[in-house]
Amino acid sequence: MIYDVLVIGAGIQGVGVAQALAAAGYSVLVVEQTAPAAGTSSKSSKLIHGGLRYLESFQLGLVRESLQERKLLLELAPDLVKLKQLHIPVYSQTTRSALTIRAGLQLYRALSKFDQDTRFKTLPKSEWGNLGGLKTEGLKTVFRYAEAQTDDAALTRAVLQSATDLGAEVKLGVKFVGAEVSDKGVRVDLRSPLNDLSVDCRVLVNCAGAWVENIISGIQPRPPLPRVELIQGSHLLLPPVIDHYFYLEAPSDRRAIFVLPYQGQLMVGTTEKLHQGAPETAACSQEERHYLLSTLNYYFPHLLYHQDQIESFAGLRVLPKNNQNAFSRSRDVMMSCDNEASPRVVSVVGGKLTTYRATAEQVLAKIRPSLPGATVRGDTRKIKLTPVT
Ligand SMILES: Cc1cc2nc3c(=O)[nH]c(=O)nc-3n(C[C@H](O)[C@H](O)[C@H](O)COP(=O)(O)OP(=O)(O)OC[C@H]3O[C@@H](n4cnc5c(N)ncnc54)[C@H](O)[C@@H]3O)c2cc1C
Repeated sequence: MIYDVLVIGAGIQGVGVAQALAAAGYSVLVVEQTAPAAGTSSKSSKLIHGGLRYLESFQLGLVRESLQERKLLLELAPDLVKLKQLHIPVYSQTTRSALTIRAGLQLYRALSKFDQDTRFKTLPKSEWGNLGGLKTEGLKTVFRYAEAQTDDAALTRAVLQSATDLGAEVKLGVKFVGAEVSDKGVRVDLRSPLNDLSVDCRVLVNCAGAWVENIISGIQPRPPLPRVELIQGSHLLLPPVIDHYFYLEAPSDRRAIFVLPYQGQLMVGTTEKLHQGAPETAACSQEERHYLLSTLNYYFPHLLYHQDQIESFAGLRVLPKNNQNAFSRSRDVMMSCDNEASPRVVSVVGGKLTTYRATAEQVLAKIRPSLPGATVRGDTRKIKLTPVT
C-alpha cells in the first residue's frame, strides 16, 4: 500500500494537516513517537487568540487570520474553546499608554471586520477593587477585551479524532527514523517498540515541531529548512489565588505576561529563553520562575504562596533565527519544501495553535500537485470538534 501522505508528529500542526488531507479525500498515516500533544501542543498559553501584541511588530496578516480562525473555532468547538474577559491595566509608568492600547484594540477590531467578540471597554474606577487585588497605585485605566481559552491537548486530540473519523490512520509510539526521496515518492523508515518497518508515501509532511531538524537530517537527499532556533517559554501553575484574566507588562523588560485562571489553577507565563540541547530537556529554570513570580508580585503585592506549591511547564517555539529579540520575531508558520512545483517533502514549523486549520489548508494547496485526484469527504470549516472522552 502506498499512502498519499505520511505526517510526522501528532501535535496540533500534524493532526490539523491529517484532518485537512483526509477531508480532501487522501489516504493519510500519522506517526507519533509518544502520544498526541506530547510536545509543545500541551505546553502553550492555551489561548485561541488574534495576538494583540503582534500588532506591535506589524504582523497584521497573522492577526487577521488568527481572528478569523478564533471565530470559526468558537463555532466549531464550543465545548473546547471559550471566550474569556482579559484585563489590561495601564499605569503611569507603563510603556504602552492608554492611547496606544486603545488604538491597538481598535485595529484588532477592524482586522476582525468588527466582529462582536472584539468589542472592548474601559472599566469604571469603582470596579478596580474587584480585580483580585490588582495594584491600584499609579493605575490610570483598565481595558477589558475578549480572547478565547482552550485545553490545547484536548483540542489536539479532538482534531485527531476528526482526522481518524475522516479515514486517517494513526500509529502512536512509532518513531520516524529516516526516509529516502525519489521521483516516484518517499520510502519512510519507522521504529516501534515491537519492530522496524518501512512505509511508502507520495508526500512526507514533517510536523515534528521542535524536533524538525532531527527529521530533516534523516532524509536523503536532505531537504531545505530555514534557519531556526528553539525558544523556551515557561508557565507557572499556582493555586487559584486570582479568578480574573490579565494581560500584563513585565516591569523588568516590558514583555507581555499572561495571568490566566485555568482548570482550577492560576497559569502565569510566559518567558523567552534560547533552548540548546534536546527538545525533551525543556524545563522551567529558576531564573524564569523568579521573573514570572516577581512580575506577578509587582501587580498583586498582597499575594502569598509557598514555593513548593508551584508547578511549572515549558514548551519550545521554533522561531526564525535572526538578530531580533525573540519577542519581535515573526510568529507566522514557516513552510519549506524540496521542490515547489511538486513537493515530496514539506516541513511545517512554528506558527500558532490558533491557526492550525488555516495552516493545514496551505499545506494541502502546496502538496496537491504531487497527489492524484480524490473525492472530497468533508470541509474543515464545517466539521464540529468535540472533546474525546
Ligand atoms: C510557551 C508557548 C506558548 C504558546 N502559546 C500559544 C497560545 O496561547 N496560542 C497559540 O495559538 N499558540 C501558542 N503557542 C504556539 C503553539 O503552541 C505551537 O505553535 C504549536 O503547539 C506547535 O505545534 P506542533 O504540532 O508544530 O509541535 P508539537 O506539538 O511539538 O508536535 C510535534 C510532535 O512531533 C512528534 N515527533 C517529533 N519527532 C518525531 C519522530 N522522529 N517520530 C514521530 N514523531 C515525532 C513529537 O513527539 C510531538 O508530539 C505557544 C508556544 C509556546 C512555546
